[in-house]
Amino acid sequence: MSTLFTIPDAPPVTNGQLASALLALSAAEKGERPRTELRAAAWTLRQLPEELFGRRVRLTGLPHVSARAADAIGAFLACGSDESVEDRVTAILDRADPARHRKSHFLTCADVDRVLKPAPGQADGSPLSPTDVRGDLHLHTNRSDGKVPLESLHRSLASRGDRFALLTDHARDCAVAGGLFPGDFAAQRVEVDRLNDRSDGEFRMFLGAEANIDADGGIDVTPRSVPVLDAVIASIHTELRSRSDQTERLVRAIRTPGVAILGHPRGRLYDLRSGIRASWERVFAVAAEEGVAIELNGCPERCDLDPKLAALALAAGCRFSIASDAHARHHLDFLRFSIAIARLARIPPDRVVNTYSAERLGEWLARQRER
Ligand SMILES: [Zn+2]
Ligand SMILES: [Zn+2]
Repeated sequence: MSTLFTIPDAPPVTNGQLASALLALSAAEKGERPRTELRAAAWTLRQLPEELFGRRVRLTGLPHVSARAADAIGAFLACGSDESVEDRVTAILDRADPARHRKSHFLTCADVDRVLKPAPGQADGSPLSPTDVRGDLHLHTNRSDGKVPLESLHRSLASRGDRFALLTDHARDCAVAGGLFPGDFAAQRVEVDRLNDRSDGEFRMFLGAEANIDADGGIDVTPRSVPVLDAVIASIHTELRSRSDQTERLVRAIRTPGVAILGHPRGRLYDLRSGIRASWERVFAVAAEEGVAIELNGCPERCDLDPKLAALALAAGCRFSIASDAHARHHLDFLRFSIAIARLARIPPDRVVNTYSAERLGEWLARQRER
């Protein structure tokens, strides 16, 4: 139990701690330029494939790392057993970093690499591995707020060896993106069927939508209102900073007939917002009862759910959906973050719908669609 949620082989100072510290300094800076430089360096640190600690690296040679940011990183890298990075930040700011809770339990690329490294002889059953996951269940095209055209996305996923995918452009009411009308989904249906026919059964894209959960828990599109859809993910995109409890909002959305997956359940964003409040035990109990899968959104800015809440959903008996929420081609790799969260939460492969065959996934989606 003690190793639950612990990222293996973490050095005394991680890239994640360094990035968080730079953002704390940035927020306290008065000048626009130092603020921007520190933020840019923090972003770079979260993308680095390896931990900086213990490596001989010319810091200013890293992308978007200025001399000012390099000095700050160098000073924080000297932290360790005597003084933690967080203590050092508190000393510099003369108070605890007020945003620290909005940056904890997120993963960096280096974290994900360590979590996904095969650990022979690991005594925790058979953890979900990248090869168990046969497809991505949350993807956008340039038809809503993504960048990749449908045909090109289809080709990228098929050529990567995926067996299936669930396309989930936003529906019309979504506040964050130019969503699709029923006629647009009908056009996508024709296009998806045409592309699937070309892949000779090797790869099948299901047609879904990312529905928006409104303030009262109503959702803007269901397979009943748009029968061409194979599946609907319901997600919150508004009222994300509300301090009031949102349990009943999520429960109503989960209970809506035809919903298959609850997308990025908390709606948190790295350094920006901590996500909604809810009685998660109740939300997960209702999801388990309705058979609605809980998404582990792999977008690094979201990491939603975090491993601790994911473990709570596991204990409640939920199924899970692994998802990149890709809006651009390079986002397809965010699937790895989602898998890493599942591993940290010790979610067994048989609880993850992405491990199903395409046929079984199709049957599961059809059941959710008809319930
Ligand atoms: Zn969303
Ligand atoms: Zn999305």
